[in-house]
Amino acid sequence: MQAARLRSAGQMSAEEVERPRAGPGEVIVRVEAAGICGSDRHMFRGEYPTALPVTLGHEFCGIVEELGEGVFMLRPGDRVTADPNIACGHCAACRQGRVNLCANLEAIGVTRDGGFAEYVRVPQGQAIVLPRDLDPVLGAFSEPLACCLHGLDVAQIKPGDSVAVLGGGVIGLIMVQLARLAGARTVVLSTRQAPRRLLAERLGATHTVDPTEGDAVEAIRAISGGGVDVALECAGVPETFAQSLAAARKGGAAVLFGVMAQGRQVAVEPFDLLVREIRLEAAYLNPHTHGRAATMIASGQLDLLPLVSRTVGIESVPDELAGDPRQGDVKVMVRPAG
Ligand code: NAP
Repeated sequence: MQAARLRSAGQMSAEEVERPRAGPGEVIVRVEAAGICGSDRHMFRGEYPTALPVTLGHEFCGIVEELGEGVFMLRPGDRVTADPNIACGHCAACRQGRVNLCANLEAIGVTRDGGFAEYVRVPQGQAIVLPRDLDPVLGAFSEPLACCLHGLDVAQIKPGDSVAVLGGGVIGLIMVQLARLAGARTVVLSTRQAPRRLLAERLGATHTVDPTEGDAVEAIRAISGGGVDVALECAGVPETFAQSLAAARKGGAAVLFGVMAQGRQVAVEPFDLLVREIRLEAAYLNPHTHGRAATMIASGQLDLLPLVSRTVGIESVPDELAGDPRQGDVKVMVRPAG
């Protein structure tokens, strides 16, 4: 089968590899759609640790085709999404229920072969059944949505809150919708590309800001009357991290969601955080939220198809990851041929 494999930082190719077989408790899923995520680019560049070589692709949806011994939760023909993050269940963090902080965490598409391939091996406990008639492209949004739901849980947005979202990629555009669903009265998105700002306004942002047109923090403060209750950092760059801290009102929260390259340092002013009592939080991965995400997608609560800019084949994945996102792209979907 064809698979897009990362061999070392910056070295990736679409190759013919052996089709995986289901071991005990596992299923083989025929991939129908897999999303390219900002984190895949971090992995391609060596900025986020992976096993090597590995087939990337951790956001996917497909059809169960083969059952391993002892599989009782799934049937051939089920359309599934997979929670890619596999916790050990034994370490101290797992025992506290904090599975995203597992000391032995493995992940499909990161440390195990993933969904930029025709077939992928999935432990049955990681698969979540979706409706048979659901568009698989929507199913492939389950993973990013699950991560955003954790971000929302950490942020504790309350009805009537004001929220700033910094970075209008797919994550930021999902966060805008979730913040409105959580009851935020004001949702400001700051992102540089105009089409994304327009899309965000269609999806529920009450205001948008172009950070190249002036001081984004001043603009957010002016809109929100002095600072937002919650600022969500969704770009993964030092500038937006600093903006999230500054845009939060006194007593407000800044949530770090974007992935900055491992080892990257940024300056903060502890005095300022102290005297404004900023609640600085981080939200990582999707602990116990993948099922909720699948349910939301099946119920059509979110508008996700407008986020899909282009569909490509597996052979295009290396070039897609080698470059920066194309101007205008939000989510690029990979759909294996056949
Ligand atoms: P993305 O498509 O790269 O979107 C981020 C966007 O932020 C950029 O495309 C860019 O859009 C915008 N941006 C960059 N610099 C900016 C600036 N100075 N001011 C305002 N906007 C700026 O990535 P994504 O898929 O949406 O993911 C966002 C981040 O979340 C990534 O770092 C990803 O790795 C991370 N992530 C974290 C988790 C988690 O569990 N915490 C899960 C999934 C993803 P413009 O060109 O329009 O400015």
